Amino acid sequence: MLAIPGMCWLCRMPLRVPGWGICSRCQRLRQLRVCPQCGLPAALDTLPCGRCLQKPPVWQRLIAASDYAPPVSGLVHQFKFHGRTALAPALARLLLLKVLAAKRAGALPVADIIISVPLHRARAWRRGYNQSALLAMALSRWLGIRYAAGVVARIKAAAPQRQLSARQRRSNLKDAFRVELPVTGLHIVIVDDVVTTGSTVAQIARQLKRNGAATVQVWCLCRTL
Ligand SMILES: [Zn+2]
Ligand SMILES: [Zn+2]
Repeated sequence: MLAIPGMCWLCRMPLRVPGWGICSRCQRLRQLRVCPQCGLPAALDTLPCGRCLQKPPVWQRLIAASDYAPPVSGLVHQFKFHGRTALAPALARLLLLKVLAAKRAGALPVADIIISVPLHRARAWRRGYNQSALLAMALSRWLGIRYAAGVVARIKAAAPQRQLSARQRRSNLKDAFRVELPVTGLHIVIVDDVVTTGSTVAQIARQLKRNGAATVQVWCLCRTL
């Protein structure tokens, strides 16, 4: 995939604002009606779905830029596994638009700090960057919410989650994260690239709540449906 400055990453048409990375036509991604709490398809997008009412997730709100489908999934793959860090602003902007829409609708909980899903030292070293941190830092700048690094550490090098079942994911993640800074009373946003079963963000959210966080919400590029 070639980066052409001033062209849309997806359709290769010239951009009105070169820094956007993705044109306004491609930004109008498939709009599914999803539950505001779990981010899965639902009859209403204003109230938590039946599943969430019965068994609410640890987090209060989930905002995803897209479901995990082309064309966005291809960009996310490039961003995550092929060192395409130049995609960070364009992808973060897709998420920003969703966050701003939620804000306009009056459905955005307060946020004191933004954190990113941490990588284990070894993986961060191999990859050379934490893709979620790049997104979180851009959103922090644009929204004026403090990005807090080092709040949560990954203390167990987990096997890649992709090949595991939901149950394996949960045990793979057991005690994988530790809260390292005080979070009492804070409203926290966790930024992740792709939320699949939600077990990673659920583990982090649980640890944050255990350590006194007031609320936790999740912002991600893609929610696998
Ligand atoms: Zn386009
Ligand atoms: Zn739900």
